[in-house]
Amino acid sequence: MRVLKFGGTSLANAERFSRAAEIITSNTCQSEVSAVLSAPAKITNALVDVIENTIKHGEAELQVAEIQSIFSALFDGLSEMEADFDKASLYQALDSTLAQLKQYIHGIALLGLCPDNIYARIISKGERLSIATMSALLQARGYNTFVIDPVHYLQAKGDYLEAMVDIEVSSDRFKKEPIPAGHIGLMPGFTASNEQGELVTLGRNGSDYSAAVLAACVRAECCEIWTDVDGVYSCDPRLVPDAKLLKSLSYQEAMELSYFGAKVLHPKTILPIARFHIPCLIKNTANPQGAGTLIGNDNHEDNLAVKGITTLSKLSMVNVSGPGMKGMVGMAARVFGAMSAAGVSVVLITQSSSEYSISFCIEAEDKPLAVRALQENFELELKDGLLEPVEFVDNVAIVSLVGDAMRTAKGVASQFFTSLAEVNVNIVAIAQGSSERSISAVIPDDRVSEAVKACHENLFNSNHYLDVFIVGVGGVGGELVEQVQRQQAKLADQGIVIRVCGLANSRGMLLNSKGIDLNTWREELAKVDEPFSLPRMVRLVQQNHVINPVFIDCTSDQAIADQYVDFLSAGFHVITPNKKANTAGMAYYQQLRKSARATRRKFMYDTTVGAGLPVIENLQNLIAAGDELEKFTGILSGSLSHIFGKLDEGQSFSEATSVARDSGFTEPDPRDDLSGMDVARKLLILAREAGMHLELEDVEVEPALPPGFDASGDVAAFMAKLPEADAYFDKLAADARAEGKVLRYVGSIDKGNCSVKIQAVDADDPMFKIKEGENALAFYSRYYQPIPLVLRGYGAGTAVTAAGVFADLMRTLGWKLGV
Ligand code: ADP
Ligand code: ASP
Ligand code: MG
Repeated sequence: MRVLKFGGTSLANAERFSRAAEIITSNTCQSEVSAVLSAPAKITNALVDVIENTIKHGEAELQVAEIQSIFSALFDGLSEMEADFDKASLYQALDSTLAQLKQYIHGIALLGLCPDNIYARIISKGERLSIATMSALLQARGYNTFVIDPVHYLQAKGDYLEAMVDIEVSSDRFKKEPIPAGHIGLMPGFTASNEQGELVTLGRNGSDYSAAVLAACVRAECCEIWTDVDGVYSCDPRLVPDAKLLKSLSYQEAMELSYFGAKVLHPKTILPIARFHIPCLIKNTANPQGAGTLIGNDNHEDNLAVKGITTLSKLSMVNVSGPGMKGMVGMAARVFGAMSAAGVSVVLITQSSSEYSISFCIEAEDKPLAVRALQENFELELKDGLLEPVEFVDNVAIVSLVGDAMRTAKGVASQFFTSLAEVNVNIVAIAQGSSERSISAVIPDDRVSEAVKACHENLFNSNHYLDVFIVGVGGVGGELVEQVQRQQAKLADQGIVIRVCGLANSRGMLLNSKGIDLNTWREELAKVDEPFSLPRMVRLVQQNHVINPVFIDCTSDQAIADQYVDFLSAGFHVITPNKKANTAGMAYYQQLRKSARATRRKFMYDTTVGAGLPVIENLQNLIAAGDELEKFTGILSGSLSHIFGKLDEGQSFSEATSVARDSGFTEPDPRDDLSGMDVARKLLILAREAGMHLELEDVEVEPALPPGFDASGDVAAFMAKLPEADAYFDKLAADARAEGKVLRYVGSIDKGNCSVKIQAVDADDPMFKIKEGENALAFYSRYYQPIPLVLRGYGAGTAVTAAGVFADLMRTLGWKLGV
């Protein structure tokens, strides 16, 4: 005998019902078959709503109408598909069910409550109608069917809503009254009877358990659970789209996974089938060809230490502590005895080794029962101070890793906790089963999605997502978007998925949590009129539980730089070529680093100095290795590198500036370059990186203009006046040339002093040859002297700067990629 179970979604409409029937009949050629059915999707919930609405409002017309319409559509659909389908008798069954339901509604409305025995009868109505429908459909297709009434066959213990089936007693009943040969057995899931012969239910989602019980009672050769996914995944596929489909699981693994919340199987399902070593296959009704997941004596086909990550939500954690706990034999027994007597199920327990406290998780809805039970049972101890007042931590959830091979694998726990830390999830408690088959952490309920995503990325080596928000999409920002677009497919092949979820400029902001289409982003952004807003971006990240949001500021805006701390606090990495934040007051500079450390986010700004040249990273590496910067000289401006290089060739200063401006090497207003402030900011960034506590005012700046030169007026007026500076520079250049030197605009750090000025350098100086837009940075350090470490190359330009920002973006994944 094979037992096949179909869940609600597999029976949601006529087409799916028919497909389930085909799967059942196609199995009849191999062996005898019995099927266990759930209620069609939404029906059980609607029945629960019937009760709740009646208690609250004395009626449930809407809910009854919903039930009627779902079944009517099902019957009509099947009768269109199958000429011999006996729709009339099904409508009769529906009418009598609804008539009975209305009587119950009347009674509940009068009483103002619904006793559990009636509750059980009401919520199990859907399963009965499922069976009647399947029976009619199979008969229409020429098969004999036999309805297995679970109230007659399955005897259970426990309360009306959470009963446990007695396999021995029930097996005997099947022996006495076997399913007739040549008939397809059809059993409504979710119900059984108690010792008094009354209908009881097996707990929500309990039809999986019904199937396992039937399989155990008839010692079936296999039990198949047909559902709406291809099998058991490494975690809930709704949460992590690239969750891995597992080939196989041991019974113990399946038990732990379902116990800790993997909804695909009811927690009670595994015990009966494991007891008789019945293999259990999880399959997709919509994809019968798929291999599914086999639960049995696992052959470790998946070769994974951790098989799955699951979560249990809506819990409260109880903390019982006090001096009276220590060394007192039987304290734990009393605590858990009290819980059991109050009907509170304990989900997870941890005890500190000092024995000072016991903590355990219960379902949040049981909290009032637990409070009362503990107060009553420990009244004296609480009064005498032997126990502290009992503490509750509300709104917690459990995240668990499950896998048989965790017993021998090393480093799993560390990866688990690192992943939680990475997304800033606070761990309230930890528990590991002594079988080492599962490890669990209690965490705040509202961080479950982030926790699972981070654990899955790290433990299953699945895709790493970078969700990027770019502000400022002119030169560098626009080029960055284009570079991302070109690289997206290639990186996705390596498991790195970059989604640009936000784009903003001074006019508007475009947001899309699934990623903006980069083929049309310019047009889309032109259409929006929502202004840039940090709270909107934060909300999008929170609502979608994004775990790796990256904020990239490609503006030169002070107001945006002032918000970096807020972005870091909201969980974003921050990357920028904008120098404003790093050259703001020292207090903000330090606050940024503190926030980044506290939130374990990265603040990256390698492109603030030397554009794409790897300046900051190298300097940081040197300092980290114990080196010390003793002296620095550098040409840090592409435009001034151009202008001063041209002076070597005898060009006048005004002409060199004008050519550089026309070629786009300077800022639109060349005074922004000639003032020396941009170079001063870069120098300050380097000095601070080397450990100096300086402010921008401490940098001595000599503009690249003659002393006292009147640089006022608009750009045109300034450019017209600039030839008046030529004589000054001609003389300087001639004097330098006479000594075999050239003029350069150099930033230096020496003995703790920073200065930016025109210098004449000789042929031995690393700056001598630097022109035509090139930058050069010479670091004289304890390790690098007398010959300095020199970095040189183009230090400006949108392509290299954007590529540098891109490199920073990739580095946010740092340790995960092993780089
Ligand atoms: P049925 O109606 O067939 O009983 P359920 O909705 O009860 O189906 O269970 C199947 C659902 O369980 C899937 O659609 C999936 O969203 C969810 N689920 C949660 N965790 C897992 C997991 N680890 N593997 C597969 N499915 C899971
Ligand atoms: N129909 C029941 C429920 O929704 C049982 C089941 O589908 O497993 O809880
Ligand atoms: Mg289910």
